Amino acid sequence: MTLKLTIDAEAWRGHLASIAQQVPGLVPVAKGNGYGFTIPVLAAEAARMGVDALAVGVPEEVDAVKVAGFGGDIVVLNPWRPGDEAAAAGLSDPQVVTTVSRAADVAEVARLAPGTAVLVEVATSMHRHGIPVEEIGALDLTGLDVRGWTIHLPAAGSIVEARKLATAVAAHPQGAAGVWFSHLSFDDYRTIASELAIPTRMRVGTRLWLGAPATFRATGTVLDVHRLPKGTTVGYHGARTPADGSIVVVSGGTAHGVALAAPATPHSFRQRLIPVAEALEEVRGRVTSPFVVAGKKRPFAEPPHMHSSLLFVPGPGEPARVGDEVPVTVRMTTTTFDRIDFAPAGP
Ligand SMILES: *Cc1c(COP(=O)(O)O)cnc(C)c1O
Repeated sequence: MTLKLTIDAEAWRGHLASIAQQVPGLVPVAKGNGYGFTIPVLAAEAARMGVDALAVGVPEEVDAVKVAGFGGDIVVLNPWRPGDEAAAAGLSDPQVVTTVSRAADVAEVARLAPGTAVLVEVATSMHRHGIPVEEIGALDLTGLDVRGWTIHLPAAGSIVEARKLATAVAAHPQGAAGVWFSHLSFDDYRTIASELAIPTRMRVGTRLWLGAPATFRATGTVLDVHRLPKGTTVGYHGARTPADGSIVVVSGGTAHGVALAAPATPHSFRQRLIPVAEALEEVRGRVTSPFVVAGKKRPFAEPPHMHSSLLFVPGPGEPARVGDEVPVTVRMTTTTFDRIDFAPAGP
């Protein structure tokens, strides 16, 4: 009776292997909710793939990778900052590679924990974190174990920008440690890797784990079905059923992130950020839910509850039975499943 993710193990792993083959030096990224799969599942998968490094977002995510049995390097993508206790603990952890992105932090890390393994982040047109390109030449990395430099480009990053920054890195005395890119197309990555005389790596999350959406599916379970005449009050808020039909109660609610599904075509920043749950308050009972019952996406009868949702299906008959698994469209990066199953390949 759960919100469940079922992974076609053979097909999904086939996709992961094909990405690994297309991207020499691949560093899988397993952060946040583990792209819906959870960090431990992805860490175990990375171990299975045989990669020597895995990236997480924040130091607090390192333990989940270790517990899953991943034995390689664990790169923390968010840069180190003074005063962050979890990041400080990472400095003395031989499995952790710390990202540094400001000259002052470079000096402080070298002072606090000489010999720390680091990646040095270079500023890009993202304007998020990083050492400005004009300061790379003078950057003093004495006392640190420099594993590489990182270039985190905007989505669909430009090879022109990557080339310019990588060239500046290559000219640094520690440039030979190599560059780790994020968000280049695989073709551009292979091109620039062939041009540069220093090692290259590429960090990939979405295109790796979520790049073959047909290889996994999300389902809710039908928990109850109630045939009701038109005008019956239902739910917490006493919404009236718009016609004769059924209330179908399915597993999957706000705790799973079900009401946070992004609109298919984000037209504006604002639209992208408004949780569907909020919009539901305004147009209660008229919003299409992500659940498919009897072949169609059905409206919510009222905003989703913590673990389940009330859907309305008009018409006579029994649209679903208790125990049925119904497809649900989810945004993987905001969904927490109750259960993740690896299934053998289908027919
Ligand atoms: C999250 C992240 C990635 C992976 O991003 P995807 O778009 O999921 O592939 C790569 N690099 C950095 C620095 C990140 O923070």
